[in-house]
Amino acid sequence: MIDYHLHVVAHGDRPMTVENILAYCEVAKERGIRQMGITEHDRYLDDIDLAAFQEARERSQAVELRLGIEVDFVPTREEEMDRFATALPYDYVIGSVHRVAGEEVDHPDHKEIYDRWDTYDLYEAYYENVRAAALSGRFDVLGHPDLIKIFRRFPRKGITSMLEETADAVAESGIVVDVNAAGLRKPIGEVYPSRDFLEMFYRRGVPIILSSDAHAPEEVAAGYEESLALVHDVGYREIVTFKNGERGTMAL
Ligand SMILES: [Zn+2]
Ligand SMILES: [Zn+2]
Repeated sequence: MIDYHLHVVAHGDRPMTVENILAYCEVAKERGIRQMGITEHDRYLDDIDLAAFQEARERSQAVELRLGIEVDFVPTREEEMDRFATALPYDYVIGSVHRVAGEEVDHPDHKEIYDRWDTYDLYEAYYENVRAAALSGRFDVLGHPDLIKIFRRFPRKGITSMLEETADAVAESGIVVDVNAAGLRKPIGEVYPSRDFLEMFYRRGVPIILSSDAHAPEEVAAGYEESLALVHDVGYREIVTFKNGERGTMAL
């Protein structure tokens, strides 16, 4: 099993030392994770200690380490995104949409955006960014593709056609979808993406990775019972792995 989206530095909570990385590896090993990918948020690029990562990778016996980055997809910031995405010898790059019109949609202290916008319009703007992120060709993996549901603020009108259109773009782009268990720890209480959305991806042959989006060691592989049951139920039998940008697969 893999956990391919997690944060050691997190939001500046701790430095990227060998010891801190190995603390994550320890939990990963206990929970049957064979490959663990560290994917810090792009704004913490300068906190990624490549030497510490490489030493931890050598010392970690049971868990193979991978390095990625989670780039915040913001249209018009192409140059900055490219700089983040190419700064280090990553195994893969995640592109995630956290913003609509420049504002974060997942910050518990800044939920006003949901009051200011018509919810349907907000969802449309969000999924427009998701489609643009996938089709930009910049990223190997699309992070938590329905993050906008985080606070359970749903439009009254159905969003099926919006999701279908997004799944079409994702399939066309060839990007891999992040099945991310962090939603289980948020008000929405379910995996990103939802079962309906994941089924749309499955029907189009879109490959997946699995992740916890851990921001602390005890969160590594958290929620995997649920996300594994979900992907299996939907029909997935393999997941994607990366090494030096090369894709591989692992049986589920
Ligand atoms: Zn994210
Ligand atoms: Zn993340």
